[in-house]
Amino acid sequence: LKRYVTGLLSEDDMEVVTVEAPPLDVPTGSKGVVVKNLYVSCDPYMRNRMTRHELPSYIPDFVPGEVLENFGVMKVISSGHLDFKAGDLVWGMTGWEEYTVINNPESLFKINHPELPLSYYTGILGMPGLTAYAGFFEVPKPKKGEYVFISGASGAVGQVVGQLAKITGCYVVGSAGSDEKSKFGFDDAFNYKKEQDLEAALRRCFPEGIDIYYENVGGKMLDAVLPNMRLGGRIVACGMISQYNLEQPEGVRNLYYIVTKRLRMEGFHVFDYYDRYYRFEEEMAGYLKEGKVSYVEDVVEGLDAAPAALIRLFTGCSVGKQLVAVARD
Ligand code: NDP
Repeated sequence: LKRYVTGLLSEDDMEVVTVEAPPLDVPTGSKGVVVKNLYVSCDPYMRNRMTRHELPSYIPDFVPGEVLENFGVMKVISSGHLDFKAGDLVWGMTGWEEYTVINNPESLFKINHPELPLSYYTGILGMPGLTAYAGFFEVPKPKKGEYVFISGASGAVGQVVGQLAKITGCYVVGSAGSDEKSKFGFDDAFNYKKEQDLEAALRRCFPEGIDIYYENVGGKMLDAVLPNMRLGGRIVACGMISQYNLEQPEGVRNLYYIVTKRLRMEGFHVFDYYDRYYRFEEEMAGYLKEGKVSYVEDVVEGLDAAPAALIRLFTGCSVGKQLVAVARD
């Protein structure tokens, strides 16, 4: 990161530099590991870490001059930790760089299904997949036959939520920002950029109203959803990507519907659900192998392309899960 960011993230806010690699053997006595980064993930929350916050957040802000970090898929090169050995495949927090020294490898997850695409561990088998799974099943407790709306439905999280909702037997509608991205195979879909009136689009898709709204974008979409919720509906507040680059976040006009429709809107954070990860991994790997779910990825090659790839999240250019292939093995 070159500097704290204001407004829409730009390539000038980041730079790719060449420095000498760290020693690839962990020092004697260290309990850390050295990893080779194979894939690194682009996630919307990274933008929030690029702004300097006055109050502490759930995760520290990035510091200008330091290497960006995020979830990635890695191969262990050397280890001072009894639970890891050279050659292990893991995923977890790492640097946007070719090699990273990780001093707290306890935070890493072992990859138990290397027969599936390893890149999936930045997406459907990693943090975004767990977000979809826990956010959908744990927060609104969905039932068969319920009406479910998902914004950001073609993204890393949204496409998984929609498929899980279909498996549950729900009626599922998604919105995305292009006609191409609005072909999910759900029950219905719309391109929100083409709709003059979002409230009317939702009325058209849900004449009987929405039971569960899985919120990924916030702002105008949330405003349009609130009057379309059914009495006693539930909203999973997972993310609000439409707000992340705004200096002045948009106000929501229709909040009073929370009162009149007795809605429950609940903030959700995946960090609270990592203890369920390996159970989730088994279930999702099973769905993938049985062909019950699929996953769309948008992969760019090499760290030089990483800054532009991150920006694609906020310009709507990413199609599916955005990630960077740093090295193939
Ligand atoms: P996505 O892959 O969905 O993000 C990229 C897409 O977001 C873009 O392609 C674009 O698609 C859409 N987008 C960008 N800007 C806007 C905008 N102004 N208005 C509407 N849509 C926009 O991201 P993820 O699936 O990784 O994450 C989805 C949400 O979940 C995010 O808000 C994220 O912060 C949040 N999240 C929350 C977690 C938690 O624990 N609570 C964990 C992980 C993610 P389009 O063309 O459709 O506009």
